[in-house]
Amino acid sequence: MKVFKFGGASIKDAVSVKNVANILRDNLYEPLVVVISAMDKMTNAFELLADNAFANRMKEADEQLKRIKDFHLNILNELFQDTSHAIFKKVDLLFEEIAGITTLKEKGSFDSFYDLLVPYGELLSTSITSACLKKSGFEHTLADARTFIHTDNNYRNAGVKWEDTITSVNQKILPLISGNNQPYHFVLSQGFIGSDPDGHSTTLGREGSDYTAAILAFALNADEVVIWKDVPGLMNADPKIFPESVKIDKLSYSDAIELAYYGAKIIHPKTIKPLQNKDIPLIVKSFENHTDTGTYISESEERYETVPQYIFKFNQILISLTPRDFSFINEENLFDIFGIFTKHRVHINLMQNSAISFSVCIDDKADFELFITALQKNYMVKYNRGLELITIRNYNELSIENVVNKRVILLEQRSRATVQLVTASENDNYLQG
Ligand code: ASP
Ligand code: MG
Repeated sequence: MKVFKFGGASIKDAVSVKNVANILRDNLYEPLVVVISAMDKMTNAFELLADNAFANRMKEADEQLKRIKDFHLNILNELFQDTSHAIFKKVDLLFEEIAGITTLKEKGSFDSFYDLLVPYGELLSTSITSACLKKSGFEHTLADARTFIHTDNNYRNAGVKWEDTITSVNQKILPLISGNNQPYHFVLSQGFIGSDPDGHSTTLGREGSDYTAAILAFALNADEVVIWKDVPGLMNADPKIFPESVKIDKLSYSDAIELAYYGAKIIHPKTIKPLQNKDIPLIVKSFENHTDTGTYISESEERYETVPQYIFKFNQILISLTPRDFSFINEENLFDIFGIFTKHRVHINLMQNSAISFSVCIDDKADFELFITALQKNYMVKYNRGLELITIRNYNELSIENVVNKRVILLEQRSRATVQLVTASENDNYLQG
């Protein structure tokens, strides 16, 4: 059995949706589960809608909702000439529900509101793709992921309730894909979404569809997971930033975890662990050249890859904290500092300390000032915004020179396999606090 995952780029328009059908046609002689995310950049679009609706900026919310609707209707009109097809009614109903949510009087917390609204990107994409596949004669069942991906209510980053999920997947999904009839009947479902014990929708964190594919593969003991992408496989750097990037043919699970941890936007960081636990290979392939081999990620003692791998994170802030009472950086201070970070949900990308100062590199965030104010109570705070965090795995001096170029290194950390550099552009007034 295989689990396929198609991300936004692979279903960004009518032509791509038809391409998904072509890929599936070649793969129906084996039991299959297909996980689909929202189309194109629709999750971003829904996030903007959530922001506006939550803040009761109804004019902006209405305009944004219209943009989202137009986007889906355009694709729908291209895929279905017959406007009396049931899918038009279904999509209309989904948009009625969306409009209902955006105008709710009581919106609860932002995170729970987000999880109520943003899953509609996936609900729309799977409804449209499923209808298109049905029209082309593909035997399958569209299953609502919220009925078998069970999570806690940590909205926007929900934790999977594994036992319940495994039971549900085996009760509800497995029977739909077993049997001897070929080509096999497959199951199509949404990535990224689940539901909590009260039946509220939840999401697994951005790019969570990869994780959904891994959860399903784990629960079903699948033979492999294939993630279909707009690149030939995992590249050693983001091709948009680094045109000379090359494909990595093979990678161990641990290397893939490390890469994801450092921020390589290749796969959702939680994806690998469930696969590694059951030794299920993960293959990352191009949906454009779907017969090419892609990147094969599996268990391996040896490190497969020796080419340097570059990971860039932009919009970074480097913060240095010095205790106001002039004490050294010690366990007590760190306990206090980490408490503030946890409370403000700030993730640390890199940290380093000296006797009297503790430095961290974090992603820039909207309510940054609030966070800094909390820190300023006990610490003198200096920070620089607009920096880059560059991580190089399998680095050598040349690879460092290549990326640093004319940039100024503000902080550097090396281990045997990895170097991390916080850099500023030469012209930045980077010493300002
Ligand atoms: N649609 C969601 C997102 O863009 C989940 C995913 O694509 O994996 O984050
Ligand atoms: Mg997506």
